Amino acid sequence: MDKKTLRKHIRNLKAVRTEEENRRASEQLMCRIEAHPRFVCAETVLFYHSLPDEVYTHDFIRKWASRKQILLPVVVGDTLEIRRFSAETAMNKNAYGIAEPTGCPFSDIAHIDLAIIPGMAFDRDGNRLGRGKGYYDRLLSCLRNTGVYKIGLCYDFQLLPQVPAEAHDVPMDEVIC
Ligand code: ADP
Ligand code: MG
Repeated sequence: MDKKTLRKHIRNLKAVRTEEENRRASEQLMCRIEAHPRFVCAETVLFYHSLPDEVYTHDFIRKWASRKQILLPVVVGDTLEIRRFSAETAMNKNAYGIAEPTGCPFSDIAHIDLAIIPGMAFDRDGNRLGRGKGYYDRLLSCLRNTGVYKIGLCYDFQLLPQVPAEAHDVPMDEVIC
């Protein structure tokens, strides 16, 4: 299936999931991130502030913000900028309704140890399908020389046998679902 058809397929699967199912699955997934050796060792983690249809991350981010340096992406034009999150940081809603930290861009990208990446779908080879705008592909291509370890995070129904990948698609090192 092509990317567009796969996105539609995933949207249909998302529509029949209950909030309760998503909440429970998200809790389990966050426990797995917390216990993951890459997370345990990491000092600086690029996370994402979840949309209603993504694995829920808000509580996790607040829980860990005092113990690790948590970074979040911010939409600036057609790119993602990285900013630091802390409990004191004021948050602004962007055009997609995602809460984003205000403040200066985080420029010390060589020090990002781990990146947790959302997606519409992933496969076991680490291929990722996004929402179709290539935001993460562009961000991750900027980080490609930093050695950052990339974990794709999704619900189990979003892990597909195969996700089509083009030359610009940046694969994950691991997928947790
Ligand atoms: P998604 O990753 O959101 O599923 P695609 O992989 O289909 O979306 O990419 C969407 C668009 O983003 C494509 O037209 C692609 O050319 C563009 N794009 C992806 N990565 C880059 C990049 N590194 N530089 C410039 N454009 C890019
Ligand atoms: Mg892509």
